Amino acid sequence: MAGPSKQLPLLQTDRQAVRLSDAVLDQRLRGTKFVSLTPRRVLNPPSATGMDYWSLNPYVGCEFGCSYCYARYTHRYVVERAHDAGKLTDAEFVDYRGVHGWEAFEKRIFVKEHVVGALDADLKRVPMGECIVIGTATDPYQPAERRFRVTRAVLQRLTRCEGLSFGIITKSSLIVRDSDLLMRLQERNELQVHISLITADARLARKLEARSPVPAARLRALRKLVDAGVNAGLIIAPVLPGITDDVAHLDMLFAAARDAQARFIHAGPLRLYPAIRDRFLPVLGEHFPDLLPKYRRAYAGHGYAPRDYARALSRRIEKLRKKHGFANQSAMFDRYRPAKMPVQGELELRGSLP
Ligand code: SF4
Repeated sequence: MAGPSKQLPLLQTDRQAVRLSDAVLDQRLRGTKFVSLTPRRVLNPPSATGMDYWSLNPYVGCEFGCSYCYARYTHRYVVERAHDAGKLTDAEFVDYRGVHGWEAFEKRIFVKEHVVGALDADLKRVPMGECIVIGTATDPYQPAERRFRVTRAVLQRLTRCEGLSFGIITKSSLIVRDSDLLMRLQERNELQVHISLITADARLARKLEARSPVPAARLRALRKLVDAGVNAGLIIAPVLPGITDDVAHLDMLFAAARDAQARFIHAGPLRLYPAIRDRFLPVLGEHFPDLLPKYRRAYAGHGYAPRDYARALSRRIEKLRKKHGFANQSAMFDRYRPAKMPVQGELELRGSLP
């Protein structure tokens, strides 16, 4: 990576006052830019996200570019707020939004440099026993982390905490680099590291996730973390109706997780918010054209999977969990579930849901 540098203006983002300091830090050959962002606040409180936990995202945007990623809205929000406030010119806005509105999430990555000062201040607001999840709207170990080491700096600060509960979600084997810090973190806090994997089929993963690590690499990383003593498991999210929700597919993932000595396994169905549709539905139409009208019907007017589908999937997951010797869904992960599920027509699925 190498590239030019240019002055960029002051930005205000989602409940966080931030200053886009001064530079495009780096640029890849295919055009992805990495832009410095100096946040004044780095922890999102539950009141800001509607979740029961605090969240921390070392980057805005994610180079892995999964077609189903629901976090695109975060990038859009940052850029649109800046433009509305007159802090991005129209030309800069086009560049930072992308032609279709979704590309910039994958190709204009904001790097939250110098986070430790902001984190120090924010941690004073977090009561004992609270949960902080790292990587709810970005992958904290995406390739840029190898160079910028923002996540590692965050973990170094967090190892001084006591009595908190931490979750980390990633698709990247780069997390193994930080096994030492993860071990220290869990000495005086609770920790769950979630290795994210929706399929063990590398060809299918490539269709759905533009630049993510291959499934085998993620499973090897999981095994290395567990061998090092880190409390790590697998997260299967999203489960894609008609694509990855059949028993055979899920059974293969559970078996792979067991072979990798996963301590736990979680799963949840696709959320198809408006910000995702422009990116995901064309991919669905290209690879699974028969499913396109079914998804449109099932997710019409809302982002959550139909209630009956979600319940049936949950039963299927529980059966597989029992079969492979995993404990029930943890209380921490229950917080990801929406309080209210919409009632809509059930998707017609490839697998015969029980
Ligand atoms: S790795 Fe996670 S944050 Fe990154 S694009 Fe994929 S789903 Fe989104």
